[in-house]
Amino acid sequence: MTTHTTRMLILGSGPAGLTAAIYGARAGMKPILVQGIQPGGQLMTTTDVENYPGFADVIQGPWLMEQMQKQAEHVGTQLMYDTIVEVDLSKRPFRLIGDGGDVYEGDTLVIATGAQAKWLGLDSEESLKGKGVSACATCDGFFYRGKKVAVIGGGNTAVEEALYLTNHSKDVTIIHRRDHFRAEKILQDRLFAHESVNVLWNKEVSTFVDGGGTAGLVALELKDTQTGEISRLDVDGGFVAIGHHPATELFRGHVELDSDHYIKVQTGTTKTSVPGVFACGDVMDKHYRQAVTAAGTGCMAALDAERFLAEVEFKVAEAAE
Ligand code: FAD
Ligand code: NAP
Repeated sequence: MTTHTTRMLILGSGPAGLTAAIYGARAGMKPILVQGIQPGGQLMTTTDVENYPGFADVIQGPWLMEQMQKQAEHVGTQLMYDTIVEVDLSKRPFRLIGDGGDVYEGDTLVIATGAQAKWLGLDSEESLKGKGVSACATCDGFFYRGKKVAVIGGGNTAVEEALYLTNHSKDVTIIHRRDHFRAEKILQDRLFAHESVNVLWNKEVSTFVDGGGTAGLVALELKDTQTGEISRLDVDGGFVAIGHHPATELFRGHVELDSDHYIKVQTGTTKTSVPGVFACGDVMDKHYRQAVTAAGTGCMAALDAERFLAEVEFKVAEAAE
């Protein structure tokens, strides 16, 4: 068992954690970044990324993350292949334990553990992910220009994703298992007023239909939740929008979470309820969930951490005079 100490401990190696590391290292904080079970984060699971600024040509998600990782290392970040399983945030330095028993002590802590989309759990959904089935309209909607798409869900995310897709498609169907949405009224009003959107109530997806060969998704098989009747909807793209799980299990009871289990931060900052602990990226953001917003809040977290330490150290020096 080894103890690793740093001025800035970062959990998570997605765009948020790696950007925090780049800024933290350049501020002389000598960050240690614990990568977790998905080094590189969610973008490692995708192919084309067309909306990360700075690249005129299409880039690949894994390539982008490899570049961020190298940049973080070049400026002095120590990357650890470990996953944190236990935290003690009751005093500083914060003390965290890795799954092999290593101890990580940080004067500050940046939590960038991300969030994972919830899926319906169908075998056909799993086999068609990236071949017509997606959980991110903002990321993949562009690939369905002029095509038929469907969104599954009835919350704010589903309604927003359906509205977003009308930028690309004149044939958007939203499929909900009940007969009314839980989304905010203002969003619903916007949706119902939109001529490109059709709503199918009381329907569940029973199968994502594979067209075979390279066709990918060609239709949804639907089951009526009231009558059990089976129907078919031809679509080119299916967007599952039934919520996300932020990776905050570890922090329950240690930092304040909101009712959806996202880490609460003070508005306009990355400060959590524990002084010296900062949160960035999807783990604290249920509205945007983009690589660029994750990177942006990662930068904020590093600046917030650096200013926090400067203030603490100034007070200590002042008291000693
Ligand atoms: P994540 O990328 O989720 O990274 C979380 C990190 O935390 C991981 O490295 C994980 O290993 C680590 N971690 C978790 N628990 C622990 C622990 N206990 N200890 C240590 N580490 C831990 N966005 C776009 O802007 N453009 C796109 O084109 C785009 N396409 C996407 C395609 C797909 C298929 C998916 C799933 C997402 C896509 N997104 C896209 C969204 C984007 O990937 C996310 O918004 C972004 O990755 C969030 O970054 P993050 O750093 O907050 O978290
Ligand atoms: P959500 O509010 O939990 O809604 C999830 C939706 O998916 C619900 O309509 C639910 O149906 C449906 N669903 C869940 N599991 C399902 C399944 N297995 N099969 C079929 N349907 C299923 O999630 P969200 O929309 O992602 O929003 C999460 C939080 O973020 C909310 O607090 C939301 O207000 C917030 N948010 C806000 C904004 C905004 O303010 N603009 C934008 C996005 C998100 P039921 O209704 O039947 O349960």
